[in-house]
Amino acid sequence: MKTLIKNAILLDMVGETPNIRKTDILVNDKIIEKIESKIDENADEVIDAKEMIVMPGLVNTHTHLAMSIFRGYKDDRKLMDWLENAIFPVEDKLRPADIYWNSLLSCIELIKSGTTTFNDMYFRMDKTIEAVEKSGMRGVISWCITDDSIKDKPEMTRKYFNKYNYKDSKIKVYVSAHAPYSCNPETLKLCVDLAKELNTGIHIHLSETMDEEKTIRERYEQSATEYLNDVELFDVPVVLAHGIYISDSDLEIIKNIKGGISHNPISNCKLSSGICNVTKLRENGINVGIGTDGIGSTTTLDMFEEMKMAAYLQKVNTMEPTSINAYQILKMATIEGAKVLGLENEIGTIEVGKKADIILIDNNKTHLYPENDICANLVYSANGADVDTVIIDGKVVMRDRKILGIDEDEVKEKVDKIVKRLL
Ligand SMILES: [Zn+2]
Repeated sequence: MKTLIKNAILLDMVGETPNIRKTDILVNDKIIEKIESKIDENADEVIDAKEMIVMPGLVNTHTHLAMSIFRGYKDDRKLMDWLENAIFPVEDKLRPADIYWNSLLSCIELIKSGTTTFNDMYFRMDKTIEAVEKSGMRGVISWCITDDSIKDKPEMTRKYFNKYNYKDSKIKVYVSAHAPYSCNPETLKLCVDLAKELNTGIHIHLSETMDEEKTIRERYEQSATEYLNDVELFDVPVVLAHGIYISDSDLEIIKNIKGGISHNPISNCKLSSGICNVTKLRENGINVGIGTDGIGSTTTLDMFEEMKMAAYLQKVNTMEPTSINAYQILKMATIEGAKVLGLENEIGTIEVGKKADIILIDNNKTHLYPENDICANLVYSANGADVDTVIIDGKVVMRDRKILGIDEDEVKEKVDKIVKRLL
């Protein structure tokens, strides 16, 4: 199967500064085979990308897909009140089929706003995997482990790791420890041992709120980062979601981690959690990607919204408009996000030999005109609805904004029933 993209305005996300050029791109099966100004070759499918910006698919480094039913549910509360009194009681009643439909709804939203890869943590991930396979997306999956919910999760992690850990698999299995405050040292050590055994990484929430830091200090007389360091969690690749309260001495610990931090700006704002000092983390050579967190806390999975918020927060946090620019934000949402997930050799840029995860953005829009700076337009003016076509692993999964192979109305009907039953 060959797909030829003609007349693209390519933003390849390769260099330290933007490289934008008119070109054709040939995809052979899953791989980008040629990028040349004119390619005349027979292809099974030809996509005319005239007036389209072509760039790598966005990478959402932290989310909980099955939480889609919580959009707008008991919003505007404090994190613990919201979790304990709104979310947890409903989560206890979720059935396996609910996880499938809720996750599929999120996959549709992600694809429709240009995300091709995500990193997810939840429970009943076997049902999320079914939804992800149906959607054609690429994802890192992990079974959320806490002190209260260990039971079969290490075994499920092992089982699905062995099932999906093959070359070219779109699904990668990580170990997930929920957070320092919900995992005691024994639980964390179990997660570290499991990750070492499987030669995979750990996905964990870290330093999301000031209360969390306080709790950990009261329990263990150290910071949350020091606590994770003591159980040797940083021996394996990690995705650290949030990373807001990282002190200078914490920074010394995480400077050399494999993986990186997932910055979730909208969730952090909406829950008044605080502002992650992305500028400082990046200055210290730490990979920082962007994530949405679950819909319950952000209300949207649109990475364009997250990119805007990420840029604004750094500018206002540092009171310095040069602290981060639009291209650096785009890098965080593509290649740097891929590095956080250990996928930088496969995705995150448009280069010959890489996997064909490609999005086409309709540039013929009044709000994207004139083109003084395409990167600035993408970060500060574009939104997810401008994404026209999405290719994942060489396969077109959305064309002219229509998702292929999924009946969107059916998914909404199914989710409607779940909402009526539970909320
Ligand atoms: Zn989260």
